[in-house]
Amino acid sequence: PDALRQVLDATLPEAPRQAEPNASAYTPDELLHAIADGQLVNRYQPKVDLRTGEVVGMEALVRWRHPVDGLVAPGAFIPMAEEAGIVGKLGDVVLSAALRDLAAWRAAGHRLHVAVNISLACLDTLDYPDTLARQLAEAAVPANQLILEITESRVLENPAAQLDVLTRLRLKQVGLAIDDFGTGYSSLANLRDLPLVEIKIDRGFVHGAAGHPGLQAILGTSLGLARQLRLVSVAEGVEDRADLDFLRQAGFDLVQGYLIARPMPAEEVEPWLQAWPTQRTELFA
Ligand code: C2E
Ligand code: MG
Ligand code: MG
Ligand code: MG
Repeated sequence: PDALRQVLDATLPEAPRQAEPNASAYTPDELLHAIADGQLVNRYQPKVDLRTGEVVGMEALVRWRHPVDGLVAPGAFIPMAEEAGIVGKLGDVVLSAALRDLAAWRAAGHRLHVAVNISLACLDTLDYPDTLARQLAEAAVPANQLILEITESRVLENPAAQLDVLTRLRLKQVGLAIDDFGTGYSSLANLRDLPLVEIKIDRGFVHGAAGHPGLQAILGTSLGLARQLRLVSVAEGVEDRADLDFLRQAGFDLVQGYLIARPMPAEEVEPWLQAWPTQRTELFA
């Protein structure tokens, strides 16, 4: 696998990533204060059915509305929060806002799910499924309208206990997705053991795929894996029309990316949904 990785690393173009600000720019105390002060806000990015252009869900992506630094991306404070052991508090805030926003969209007649990114630390908390079930009940959101995204490279560092938590979440009907697929080292064997509903291919394999046979081969293999495991396949980071057309022809189920919409504030979701049919006919004719 190391040799394979070297070949892949040598042939793949560098994924376009946002520059991550200095991870130590903020202290745990500053973040705790920000949480208490309501400075964490969710942005939402649509998940769209690649065959029909129908919007099926919204992914919540947290931002820190910093009084001095402006809108801060999650890469600048999530690793710090994980290290300091306070990422659970952050996750609570993101989840409760996501459930509240989802309830409002559904009340307005939109059939959507919401996807929330969770840190591995949640899976190390044995009562996490019960806490989550309580939050769902309080928000009056059915569990099957929530998908939890777990980054591939982080899954199963502590297999037995984490698998137990994942299984209990799934038994409660919560959807589970592997995020950033391709960036870690999942084998077919251990992916098969996870109670997943969805696999999200990292945008590093998606961007530029239309003109890159190496990426196309990786996407094809990932799609085959998704199908074999009967998982919904999602391609993230679609920025170009050519890549969208390639993904459609390859047979992916869902897409996300700037081509469809950038992550937007909750209050922009409703107007965006109203306006989507026009753009939809252009992209999904
Ligand atoms: P992710 O879950 O894989 O989210 C996708 C990231 O790609 C987001 O960055 C999104 O803004 C960006 N993106 C979406 N479409 C495009 C595109 O077409 N082109 C490009 N270049 N980028 C695109 P963001 O919001 O900075 O989030 C980064 C990561 O931070 C997320 O990756 C996720 O792993 C983590 N994260 C975000 N919110 C939370 C959270 O509430 N809790 C935890 N634990 N992690 C979070
Ligand atoms: Mg995600
Ligand atoms: Mg992702
Ligand atoms: Mg990512």
